[in-house]
Amino acid sequence: MGEALVDSYGRTVRDLRISVTDRCNFRCQYCMPEEGMVWLPRTDILTFEEIERVARVCVERFGVDSIRLTGGEPTVRAHLPTLVAKLAALRVGGDPDGRGVDLAMTTNGASLRLMARDLHDAGLRRLNISCDSLQRERFLAITKRDALDAVLDGIDAALAAGLDPVKLNCVLMRGINDDEIVDFARFGRERGVQVRFIEFMPLDASDEWSANRVVPGAEIVAAIDAVYPLAAVEGRGSQPADRYRYRDGAGEIGVIASVSEPFCGACDRIRLTAEGQLRNCLFAVDETDLRPLLRGGGSDDELAAAIIGNVGRKWAGHSINQVTFIRPARSMSQIGG
Ligand code: SF4
Repeated sequence: MGEALVDSYGRTVRDLRISVTDRCNFRCQYCMPEEGMVWLPRTDILTFEEIERVARVCVERFGVDSIRLTGGEPTVRAHLPTLVAKLAALRVGGDPDGRGVDLAMTTNGASLRLMARDLHDAGLRRLNISCDSLQRERFLAITKRDALDAVLDGIDAALAAGLDPVKLNCVLMRGINDDEIVDFARFGRERGVQVRFIEFMPLDASDEWSANRVVPGAEIVAAIDAVYPLAAVEGRGSQPADRYRYRDGAGEIGVIASVSEPFCGACDRIRLTAEGQLRNCLFAVDETDLRPLLRGGGSDDELAAAIIGNVGRKWAGHSINQVTFIRPARSMSQIGG
């Protein structure tokens, strides 16, 4: 293995988030508009071989040991288990006998009934399923899809396929679904899935985000603790979520308070967009186009140098709460969670 990927703040990159498509079969209001999304031409989208190459350089040369597949909605990309198998075959540090990457995916869950087993057999290990309401009508209003049943079936299919852990990602929006906090906690306790509550971030394509629509992490914890007493779990490390366990032993919750309690100081993530742009931060305002190297005969050394250069320009963190904050030109579906 070569040297680790360390930014100018001393943070080591260990987690590569890969968007495999900008397309999605949902239209979640905190992500994309109901109509009018312009998709990337298919020729712009990285092939599985190109994705594997970038991942291989990161994993084998720089010791990146965690990969998360995202989108848009990754399950709308055809033959996804083929890509999963390619990535699952990578060995951290390039040692053939070395350990594999920790392979996870974030999905809206609607297609898991059909795919969970194949994804698991191909090497996927962990899953986060997005679900922002347990009420059918409200789910429809938020996602513009009448698919709550399919998502709930998807959770069961993921658990049955042996994906572990299966977590539920719930983006809370003031006045939209913040009255379901305890319902989600109860759901997670009963289904044996960890619910992760996510603060609404300014990455919605319709630019409707405002600070007063954010439900702060502290408020989420207080609401649950009042019904199901919680205890903080120590040792967050570089993980985005603060974890809390139920004092009665019925599992855990996670809270991703990126707006009210930023955690950039320990960030270990970089992102690859569906069309090959490397982003050193979810909110980055600049990015590195890897496609010319991937499609123009660039060497792995040149690819590695471009990745090092990008990481070297990583800022201390987002500035959402500051006047200097500049919304990225991309929405969440064009970056990947
Ligand atoms: S906002 Fe950027 S720097 Fe902060 S945790 Fe997220 S990706 Fe890392």
